[in-house]
Amino acid sequence: MEKVALLRCEEYDVDLIEKKLREGFQLLGGDSFLRQLIPENSRVLLKPNLLSVEGAGSPVITHYAVFEAVIRIIKEYSSDITFGDSPGFGDPRKAAEKSGLMEVANKYGVKFDDFRETVHVKLDESILCKSWDVAKAAYESDVLITLPKLKTHAMAYFTGAVKNQFGCISGTQKASWHTRMPDANNFCKMLLDLNTVVKTSFAILDGIVAMEGNGPRNGQPHKMDTIIMGKSISAVDSVGVRLIGYDNPLDTPVLKEVADHKWGTVLPKDIQVLGETIDTMKARNFKLSRTGGSFYFKSPAVTKFLAKMLAPNPVLIPDKCIGCKRCQEVCPETPKVISMVKTGDKFNPTWDMSRCIRCFCCQELCPVGAIETKHSTIGKILGHNKR
Ligand code: SF4
Ligand code: SF4
Repeated sequence: MEKVALLRCEEYDVDLIEKKLREGFQLLGGDSFLRQLIPENSRVLLKPNLLSVEGAGSPVITHYAVFEAVIRIIKEYSSDITFGDSPGFGDPRKAAEKSGLMEVANKYGVKFDDFRETVHVKLDESILCKSWDVAKAAYESDVLITLPKLKTHAMAYFTGAVKNQFGCISGTQKASWHTRMPDANNFCKMLLDLNTVVKTSFAILDGIVAMEGNGPRNGQPHKMDTIIMGKSISAVDSVGVRLIGYDNPLDTPVLKEVADHKWGTVLPKDIQVLGETIDTMKARNFKLSRTGGSFYFKSPAVTKFLAKMLAPNPVLIPDKCIGCKRCQEVCPETPKVISMVKTGDKFNPTWDMSRCIRCFCCQELCPVGAIETKHSTIGKILGHNKR
């Protein structure tokens, strides 16, 4: 039985979060658990979610107060702590500085790694992907502690502890993975292989203020007062998705792949939730995002045809668009699916949907939330992944 600690924490107050995390570690086995988790002289890497360059306290990224509380505890077990991430857009160091994490790190002598240095790794026993270039600091750490943010995600429905390691792919290389894995289910299989390469020892999911709706960047904050922690990243996510409304965790693409490939623990019957209960911590009226998904038919031609008919599309909200062209820049396809067309005194994006792979990088990284994902009319009628 996999143990996961579920804690109520109502504020981003460092002392309070530290107290809660200590309670969580106590539930999981206390000091001896921590000593096993972080053996003497271990190099520890903290992997927050720095999706893009965001201001301190933004619900898009791991909160600096959670980061500080984690450091306070981990430094009792290791003097060699690094943190790192590689945002999908923007300079990693700037992202770390603006988020407030760098200031906290400097206070405790924690080093920063921008994940630009990578190592090539072969994964013979893979589900899908055998060849990898991943951040050296993540691959070579002895103990990787992932610090995800609880958010919706247009393609994967949910981003938490499993998805957070996509940041271990350096910067622009993420785009090529989107091109290679345009299908949500293959993308999720790829995430599992990545998590086999970059082994995570522990996860602490920041759901004090989560993100609902048009996540992972442009949704709304949703106060959930929640921290979830455990050794199994899939079990932590399984608890997370149940809190936001997926009573069956297998209704989310990543966790379905976890179960199908027996990659990790995901079923409620295999997870012991310690501390609070799921029923008492469940979010009310949490706005989900369920536009991803896959289409499997024997004939590839039929699959391709139906995928186009049923798939959700990125859709512009013209009033919000500031014409910055970032959506065009981050589109991984060559040539770009998005063209910028002059409309009045500014440029607006337009899409050639016949070539769009529905990776939703444009939606994810638009700085002002001017792109949403919407199902086609036929997709809505047939109810594909509609919510
Ligand atoms: S849709 Fe967003 S990313 Fe694209 S040009 Fe407009 S504001 Fe920029
Ligand atoms: S247009 Fe958007 S969803 Fe389509 S391939 Fe480009 S980034 Fe992905």
